Amino acid sequence: MAKDPTFENAIAFAADLIRIPGLSGSEGDVARRVRVEMEALGLDDARLDEAGNAIGVARGTGDAPSVLLNCHLDVVAEGDHADWEFPPFSGVVEGGFLHGRGAMDIKGQLALQTYAAAALKGKAPGDVIVAHTVFEERGGLGMKHLLESGVRPGAVIIGEATRGDICIGHRGRAEVEVVITGLAGHASAPERAHNALDLVGDVLLAVRDVAEGLPADPILGRATVVATMLDVLPQSRNVIPDNVVVALDWRTLPNDEDPTLLRQVREALGRRLPEVPQGLDVTVRMAQEHQRTHTGLEVERDMFSPGFLMDPDHPMVEAAARAVGRRDDASTPAVVRPWTFATDGGWTCGVHGVPTLGFAPGEERFAHTNRERLDVEEARWAFHRHGDLVVAMQKALT
Ligand SMILES: [Zn+2]
Repeated sequence: MAKDPTFENAIAFAADLIRIPGLSGSEGDVARRVRVEMEALGLDDARLDEAGNAIGVARGTGDAPSVLLNCHLDVVAEGDHADWEFPPFSGVVEGGFLHGRGAMDIKGQLALQTYAAAALKGKAPGDVIVAHTVFEERGGLGMKHLLESGVRPGAVIIGEATRGDICIGHRGRAEVEVVITGLAGHASAPERAHNALDLVGDVLLAVRDVAEGLPADPILGRATVVATMLDVLPQSRNVIPDNVVVALDWRTLPNDEDPTLLRQVREALGRRLPEVPQGLDVTVRMAQEHQRTHTGLEVERDMFSPGFLMDPDHPMVEAAARAVGRRDDASTPAVVRPWTFATDGGWTCGVHGVPTLGFAPGEERFAHTNRERLDVEEARWAFHRHGDLVVAMQKALT
Protein backbone atom coordinates (compact mmCIF):
# COMPACT_ATOMS: atom_id res chain seq x y z
CA MET A 1 0.00 0.00 0.00
CA ALA A 2 1.16 3.52 -0.82
CA LYS A 3 2.51 5.53 2.08
CA ASP A 4 -0.11 7.78 3.66
CA PRO A 5 1.84 9.62 6.38
CA THR A 6 -0.82 12.22 7.25
CA PHE A 7 -3.42 9.53 7.87
CA GLU A 8 -0.97 7.31 9.78
CA ASN A 9 -0.08 10.28 12.02
CA ALA A 10 -3.77 10.99 12.62
CA ILE A 11 -4.33 7.38 13.72
CA ALA A 12 -1.28 7.57 16.01
CA PHE A 13 -2.76 10.75 17.52
CA ALA A 14 -6.11 8.95 18.00
CA ALA A 15 -4.33 6.07 19.76
CA ASP A 16 -2.61 8.60 22.02
CA LEU A 17 -5.95 10.15 22.94
CA ILE A 18 -7.46 6.74 23.74
CA ARG A 19 -4.66 6.30 26.30
CA ILE A 20 -5.86 9.43 28.14
CA PRO A 21 -9.12 8.62 30.00
CA GLY A 22 -11.62 11.41 30.54
CA LEU A 23 -15.29 11.13 31.47
CA SER A 24 -17.59 14.16 31.22
CA GLY A 25 -16.16 16.82 33.54
CA SER A 26 -12.67 15.28 33.51
CA GLU A 27 -11.59 16.04 29.95
CA GLY A 28 -8.73 18.37 30.96
CA ASP A 29 -5.83 16.09 29.99
CA VAL A 30 -7.48 15.20 26.68
CA ALA A 31 -8.23 18.87 25.92
CA ARG A 32 -4.63 19.93 26.60
CA ARG A 33 -3.30 17.09 24.44
CA VAL A 34 -5.61 18.16 21.60
CA ARG A 35 -4.45 21.77 21.90
CA VAL A 36 -0.80 20.71 21.67
CA GLU A 37 -1.58 18.77 18.48
CA MET A 38 -3.49 21.71 17.00
CA GLU A 39 -0.47 23.95 17.56
CA ALA A 40 1.92 21.38 16.12
CA LEU A 41 -0.30 21.11 13.02
CA GLY A 42 -0.19 24.87 12.51
CA LEU A 43 -3.84 25.65 13.31
CA ASP A 44 -4.36 29.31 14.27
CA ASP A 45 -5.74 30.56 17.59
CA ALA A 46 -5.41 27.13 19.24
CA ARG A 47 -6.90 27.53 22.69
CA LEU A 48 -9.16 26.16 25.42
CA ASP A 49 -12.23 28.28 26.13
CA GLU A 50 -13.91 28.97 29.48
CA ALA A 51 -15.82 25.67 29.35
CA GLY A 52 -12.68 23.73 28.41
CA ASN A 53 -13.51 23.12 24.74
CA ALA A 54 -10.42 22.80 22.48
CA ILE A 55 -10.58 25.20 19.52
CA GLY A 56 -8.35 25.98 16.53
CA VAL A 57 -8.81 27.49 13.06
CA ALA A 58 -7.43 26.66 9.60
CA ARG A 59 -7.69 29.93 7.70
CA GLY A 60 -9.10 29.69 4.19
CA THR A 61 -8.23 31.65 1.07
CA GLY A 62 -11.39 33.77 1.02
CA ASP A 63 -14.56 34.71 2.83
CA ALA A 64 -16.77 31.70 2.03
CA PRO A 65 -18.85 30.65 5.07
CA SER A 66 -16.78 28.87 7.71
CA VAL A 67 -17.33 25.18 8.42
CA LEU A 68 -17.00 23.90 11.99
CA LEU A 69 -15.66 20.37 12.44
CA ASN A 70 -16.83 19.00 15.79
CA CYS A 71 -16.23 15.97 17.96
CA HIS A 72 -16.42 15.71 21.75
CA LEU A 73 -13.62 15.32 24.26
CA ASP A 74 -15.45 13.09 26.74
CA VAL A 75 -16.09 9.34 26.64
CA VAL A 76 -18.50 7.14 28.58
CA ALA A 77 -17.35 4.85 31.40
CA GLU A 78 -15.47 1.75 30.27
CA GLY A 79 -16.92 -0.68 32.82
CA ASP A 80 -15.06 -3.81 33.89
CA HIS A 81 -11.67 -4.00 32.10
CA ALA A 82 -11.82 -7.80 32.22
CA ASP A 83 -14.76 -7.73 29.82
CA TRP A 84 -12.68 -6.08 27.08
CA GLU A 85 -10.89 -8.18 24.46
CA PHE A 86 -8.36 -5.34 24.14
CA PRO A 87 -7.71 -3.14 27.22
CA PRO A 88 -9.96 -0.04 26.99
CA PHE A 89 -7.11 2.48 27.19
CA SER A 90 -4.63 0.59 25.00
CA GLY A 91 -5.27 2.26 21.65
CA VAL A 92 -3.82 -0.78 19.86
CA VAL A 93 -4.31 -1.39 16.16
CA GLU A 94 -4.95 -5.07 15.53
CA GLY A 95 -6.86 -7.03 12.90
CA GLY A 96 -7.46 -3.85 10.91
CA PHE A 97 -9.16 -2.03 13.77
CA LEU A 98 -8.17 0.69 16.23
CA HIS A 99 -9.37 -0.57 19.61
CA GLY A 100 -10.41 1.02 22.89
CA ARG A 101 -12.81 3.36 24.62
CA GLY A 102 -13.30 6.31 22.30
CA ALA A 103 -11.81 4.59 19.22
CA MET A 104 -15.07 5.27 17.39
CA ASP A 105 -16.94 7.51 19.86
CA ILE A 106 -15.14 9.67 19.19
CA LYS A 107 -11.39 10.10 19.46
CA GLY A 108 -10.66 8.39 16.15
CA GLN A 109 -12.79 10.85 14.25
CA LEU A 110 -11.60 13.73 16.45
CA ALA A 111 -8.06 13.03 15.25
CA LEU A 112 -9.15 12.66 11.61
CA GLN A 113 -11.11 15.94 11.67
CA THR A 114 -8.22 17.82 13.26
CA TYR A 115 -5.74 16.56 10.65
CA ALA A 116 -8.23 17.13 7.80
CA ALA A 117 -8.68 20.75 8.89
CA ALA A 118 -4.93 21.31 9.02
CA ALA A 119 -4.61 19.94 5.48
CA LEU A 120 -7.18 22.53 4.30
CA LYS A 121 -5.22 25.48 5.69
CA GLY A 122 -4.74 28.02 2.89
CA LYS A 123 -6.69 25.81 0.46
CA ALA A 124 -10.44 25.98 1.32
CA PRO A 125 -12.41 29.03 0.15
CA GLY A 126 -13.38 29.80 3.77
CA ASP A 127 -12.16 29.14 7.31
CA VAL A 128 -12.34 25.67 8.84
CA ILE A 129 -12.93 25.88 12.56
CA VAL A 130 -12.11 22.84 14.70
CA ALA A 131 -13.88 22.77 18.05
CA HIS A 132 -13.94 19.63 20.16
CA THR A 133 -16.36 20.08 23.02
CA VAL A 134 -16.87 18.88 26.60
CA PHE A 135 -19.85 17.15 28.23
CA GLU A 136 -21.41 15.87 25.01
CA GLU A 137 -22.22 12.57 26.72
CA ARG A 138 -24.23 14.47 29.38
CA GLY A 139 -26.33 16.73 27.19
CA GLY A 140 -23.90 19.08 25.43
CA LEU A 141 -22.92 21.82 27.90
CA GLY A 142 -19.71 22.38 25.89
CA MET A 143 -21.38 22.96 22.53
CA LYS A 144 -24.10 25.09 24.12
CA HIS A 145 -21.40 27.26 25.70
CA LEU A 146 -19.37 27.46 22.47
CA LEU A 147 -22.34 28.83 20.51
CA GLU A 148 -23.42 31.20 23.27
CA SER A 149 -19.85 32.53 23.50
CA GLY A 150 -20.12 33.87 19.96
CA VAL A 151 -18.59 31.15 17.77
CA ARG A 152 -21.01 31.16 14.84
CA PRO A 153 -19.94 29.02 11.85
CA GLY A 154 -21.69 28.95 8.49
CA ALA A 155 -22.14 25.18 8.76
CA VAL A 156 -21.22 22.25 11.01
CA ILE A 157 -19.97 18.70 10.46
CA ILE A 158 -20.57 16.47 13.50
CA GLY A 159 -18.13 13.57 13.68
CA GLU A 160 -20.44 10.97 15.23
CA ALA A 161 -20.40 7.61 13.44
CA THR A 162 -22.35 7.51 10.17
CA ARG A 163 -20.45 4.70 8.44
CA GLY A 164 -19.76 7.12 5.60
CA ASP A 165 -23.39 8.21 5.14
CA ILE A 166 -24.55 11.81 5.47
CA CYS A 167 -26.71 12.12 8.58
CA ILE A 168 -29.15 15.03 8.74
CA GLY A 169 -30.84 14.86 12.12
CA HIS A 170 -32.11 12.88 15.08
CA ARG A 171 -34.72 13.02 17.80
CA GLY A 172 -33.87 14.88 20.99
CA ARG A 173 -33.98 13.59 24.54
CA ALA A 174 -35.48 15.08 27.68
CA GLU A 175 -35.77 13.82 31.24
CA VAL A 176 -39.00 14.92 32.92
CA GLU A 177 -39.90 14.24 36.56
CA VAL A 178 -43.32 13.97 38.16
CA VAL A 179 -42.87 14.61 41.88
CA ILE A 180 -45.55 13.48 44.32
CA THR A 181 -45.30 14.71 47.92
CA GLY A 182 -47.35 13.73 50.96
CA LEU A 183 -46.81 13.07 54.63
CA ALA A 184 -44.65 10.18 55.85
CA GLY A 185 -45.88 7.94 58.62
CA HIS A 186 -45.66 4.53 60.23
CA ALA A 187 -47.06 1.84 57.97
CA SER A 188 -49.10 0.50 60.89
CA ALA A 189 -51.14 3.73 61.07
CA PRO A 190 -52.01 4.87 57.53
CA GLU A 191 -54.66 7.29 58.83
CA ARG A 192 -51.91 9.54 60.17
CA ALA A 193 -50.05 9.79 56.81
CA HIS A 194 -50.63 10.90 53.22
CA ASN A 195 -49.13 8.22 51.00
CA ALA A 196 -47.29 9.67 47.99
CA LEU A 197 -47.51 6.28 46.26
CA ASP A 198 -51.31 6.60 46.06
CA LEU A 199 -51.06 8.80 42.96
CA VAL A 200 -48.51 6.75 41.01
CA GLY A 201 -51.24 4.87 39.13
CA ASP A 202 -52.82 8.12 37.89
CA VAL A 203 -49.40 9.47 36.90
CA LEU A 204 -48.56 6.36 34.85
CA LEU A 205 -51.94 6.46 33.10
CA ALA A 206 -51.44 10.15 32.30
CA VAL A 207 -48.00 9.41 30.84
CA ARG A 208 -49.56 6.73 28.67
CA ASP A 209 -52.19 9.24 27.52
CA VAL A 210 -49.43 11.66 26.52
CA ALA A 211 -47.48 8.92 24.72
CA GLU A 212 -50.52 7.89 22.68
CA GLY A 213 -50.99 11.44 21.42
CA LEU A 214 -47.41 12.16 20.37
CA PRO A 215 -46.79 13.08 16.73
CA ALA A 216 -44.54 11.32 14.21
CA ASP A 217 -42.07 12.80 11.74
CA PRO A 218 -41.82 11.08 8.33
CA ILE A 219 -37.99 10.94 8.59
CA LEU A 220 -37.24 10.84 12.33
CA GLY A 221 -40.14 8.62 13.34
CA ARG A 222 -42.43 8.99 16.33
CA ALA A 223 -41.75 10.96 19.49
CA THR A 224 -41.94 8.70 22.55
CA VAL A 225 -42.30 9.17 26.27
CA VAL A 226 -42.08 6.38 28.81
CA ALA A 227 -41.75 6.09 32.58
CA THR A 228 -38.34 4.58 33.37
CA MET A 229 -37.76 4.92 37.11
CA LEU A 230 -39.52 5.33 40.43
CA ASP A 231 -37.63 6.90 43.34
CA VAL A 232 -39.38 6.42 46.70
CA LEU A 233 -38.36 8.20 49.91
CA PRO A 234 -37.92 7.27 52.65
CA GLN A 235 -36.70 3.87 51.45
CA SER A 236 -38.25 1.63 54.02
CA ARG A 237 -40.81 -1.11 53.72
CA ASN A 238 -42.56 -0.20 56.97
CA VAL A 239 -42.79 3.55 56.31
CA ILE A 240 -45.43 5.34 54.23
CA PRO A 241 -43.39 7.47 51.80
CA ASP A 242 -43.84 11.23 51.53
CA ASN A 243 -41.81 11.68 48.36
CA VAL A 244 -42.06 9.80 45.06
CA VAL A 245 -40.41 10.81 41.81
CA VAL A 246 -41.54 9.21 38.53
CA ALA A 247 -38.81 9.70 35.91
CA LEU A 248 -39.82 9.96 32.25
CA ASP A 249 -37.54 9.45 29.24
CA TRP A 250 -38.82 11.56 26.38
CA ARG A 251 -37.51 11.26 22.81
CA THR A 252 -38.54 14.56 21.29
CA LEU A 253 -38.96 15.93 17.79
CA PRO A 254 -37.31 19.16 16.63
CA ASN A 255 -39.15 22.24 18.00
CA ASP A 256 -40.21 20.41 21.18
CA GLU A 257 -39.17 22.58 24.12
CA ASP A 258 -39.20 22.23 27.90
CA PRO A 259 -42.42 24.24 28.47
CA THR A 260 -44.45 22.32 25.88
CA LEU A 261 -43.36 18.95 27.31
CA LEU A 262 -44.28 19.97 30.85
CA ARG A 263 -47.63 21.39 29.73
CA GLN A 264 -48.58 18.12 28.00
CA VAL A 265 -47.93 16.10 31.17
CA ARG A 266 -49.74 18.63 33.38
CA GLU A 267 -52.81 18.64 31.12
CA ALA A 268 -52.96 14.83 30.93
CA LEU A 269 -52.62 14.66 34.73
CA GLY A 270 -55.42 17.18 35.10
CA ARG A 271 -57.69 14.91 33.08
CA ARG A 272 -56.78 11.76 35.03
CA LEU A 273 -56.75 13.53 38.38
CA PRO A 274 -59.11 16.54 38.31
CA GLU A 275 -58.72 16.92 42.07
CA VAL A 276 -55.56 16.07 43.97
CA PRO A 277 -56.52 14.47 47.32
CA GLN A 278 -55.96 16.59 50.41
CA GLY A 279 -52.49 16.31 51.89
CA LEU A 280 -50.89 15.32 48.59
CA ASP A 281 -49.26 17.45 45.92
CA VAL A 282 -48.05 16.77 42.37
CA THR A 283 -45.53 18.85 40.42
CA VAL A 284 -44.05 18.30 36.96
CA ARG A 285 -40.55 19.56 36.22
CA MET A 286 -37.51 19.01 34.04
CA ALA A 287 -34.85 16.83 35.67
CA GLN A 288 -31.79 18.91 36.50
CA GLU A 289 -28.11 18.13 36.83
CA HIS A 290 -25.30 20.12 38.37
CA GLN A 291 -22.31 20.02 36.03
CA ARG A 292 -18.76 21.27 36.58
CA THR A 293 -16.33 21.47 33.69
CA HIS A 294 -12.62 20.66 34.00
CA THR A 295 -11.99 24.42 33.93
CA GLY A 296 -14.30 25.03 36.91
CA LEU A 297 -17.34 26.39 35.07
CA GLU A 298 -20.44 25.34 37.05
CA VAL A 299 -23.88 25.03 35.53
CA GLU A 300 -27.23 23.78 36.81
CA ARG A 301 -29.02 22.59 33.71
CA ASP A 302 -32.19 20.92 32.50
CA MET A 303 -31.61 17.41 31.18
CA PHE A 304 -32.64 18.27 27.67
CA SER A 305 -30.77 17.68 24.39
CA PRO A 306 -32.68 19.08 21.44
CA GLY A 307 -33.26 17.22 18.19
CA PHE A 308 -32.81 18.60 14.69
CA LEU A 309 -33.59 17.80 11.09
CA MET A 310 -32.11 19.23 7.89
CA ASP A 311 -34.22 19.17 4.74
CA PRO A 312 -32.76 16.28 2.68
CA ASP A 313 -33.19 18.54 -0.38
CA HIS A 314 -31.17 21.38 1.18
CA PRO A 315 -28.50 22.40 -1.39
CA MET A 316 -25.74 21.87 1.19
CA VAL A 317 -26.94 18.34 1.97
CA GLU A 318 -27.14 17.42 -1.71
CA ALA A 319 -23.69 18.91 -2.36
CA ALA A 320 -22.26 17.01 0.61
CA ALA A 321 -23.73 13.67 -0.49
CA ARG A 322 -22.30 14.13 -4.00
CA ALA A 323 -18.90 15.26 -2.71
CA VAL A 324 -18.53 12.26 -0.41
CA GLY A 325 -19.97 9.61 -2.73
CA ARG A 326 -20.13 5.97 -1.69
CA ARG A 327 -17.12 4.00 -0.63
CA ASP A 328 -17.81 1.33 -3.27
CA ASP A 329 -18.99 3.80 -5.94
CA ALA A 330 -17.69 7.36 -5.82
CA SER A 331 -20.04 8.51 -8.59
CA THR A 332 -23.20 7.70 -6.58
CA PRO A 333 -24.16 10.22 -3.86
CA ALA A 334 -23.81 9.07 -0.24
CA VAL A 335 -26.88 7.74 1.55
CA VAL A 336 -28.72 10.55 3.39
CA ARG A 337 -30.45 9.49 6.61
CA PRO A 338 -31.02 10.40 10.27
CA TRP A 339 -29.07 9.07 13.26
CA THR A 340 -30.91 6.98 15.84
CA PHE A 341 -28.98 8.62 18.73
CA ALA A 342 -28.63 12.25 19.84
CA THR A 343 -25.63 14.52 19.09
CA ASP A 344 -24.57 18.13 19.66
CA GLY A 345 -26.23 18.89 16.29
CA GLY A 346 -29.39 19.59 18.26
CA TRP A 347 -27.65 22.70 19.63
CA THR A 348 -25.99 23.85 16.40
CA CYS A 349 -28.98 23.32 14.08
CA GLY A 350 -32.02 22.70 16.29
CA VAL A 351 -31.46 25.69 18.59
CA HIS A 352 -29.13 28.03 16.65
CA GLY A 353 -30.24 27.24 13.10
CA VAL A 354 -26.76 26.56 11.71
CA PRO A 355 -26.92 24.06 8.80
CA THR A 356 -25.51 20.83 10.24
CA LEU A 357 -24.78 17.33 9.02
CA GLY A 358 -22.88 14.28 10.20
CA PHE A 359 -20.10 12.44 8.39
CA ALA A 360 -17.69 9.94 9.92
CA PRO A 361 -16.50 6.37 9.69
CA GLY A 362 -17.65 3.87 12.30
CA GLU A 363 -20.56 1.63 13.16
CA GLU A 364 -22.83 2.93 15.87
CA ARG A 365 -23.49 -0.59 17.20
CA PHE A 366 -19.98 -0.52 18.75
CA ALA A 367 -20.55 2.81 20.57
CA HIS A 368 -20.59 2.64 24.38
CA THR A 369 -19.73 -1.11 24.28
CA ASN A 370 -16.67 -3.04 25.41
CA ARG A 371 -16.03 -3.99 21.77
CA GLU A 372 -15.53 -0.39 20.66
CA ARG A 373 -13.36 -0.23 17.54
CA LEU A 374 -12.77 1.73 14.34
CA ASP A 375 -12.16 0.07 10.97
CA VAL A 376 -8.84 1.59 9.83
CA GLU A 377 -9.45 1.26 6.07
CA GLU A 378 -12.92 2.78 6.40
CA ALA A 379 -11.35 5.59 8.45
CA ARG A 380 -8.71 6.12 5.74
CA TRP A 381 -11.41 6.46 3.08
CA ALA A 382 -13.48 8.87 5.22
CA PHE A 383 -10.41 10.92 6.13
CA HIS A 384 -9.63 11.57 2.48
CA ARG A 385 -13.25 12.60 1.71
CA HIS A 386 -13.13 15.56 4.12
CA GLY A 387 -11.40 18.00 1.76
CA ASP A 388 -14.00 17.67 -1.00
CA LEU A 389 -16.81 17.63 1.57
CA VAL A 390 -15.81 20.88 3.29
CA VAL A 391 -15.16 22.73 0.02
CA ALA A 392 -18.48 21.51 -1.45
CA MET A 393 -20.35 22.72 1.65
CA GLN A 394 -18.67 26.12 1.53
CA LYS A 395 -19.48 26.52 -2.17
CA ALA A 396 -23.10 25.43 -1.67
CA LEU A 397 -23.54 28.07 1.05
CA THR A 398 -21.85 30.89 -0.87
ZN1 LIG B 1 -20.30 10.52 20.73
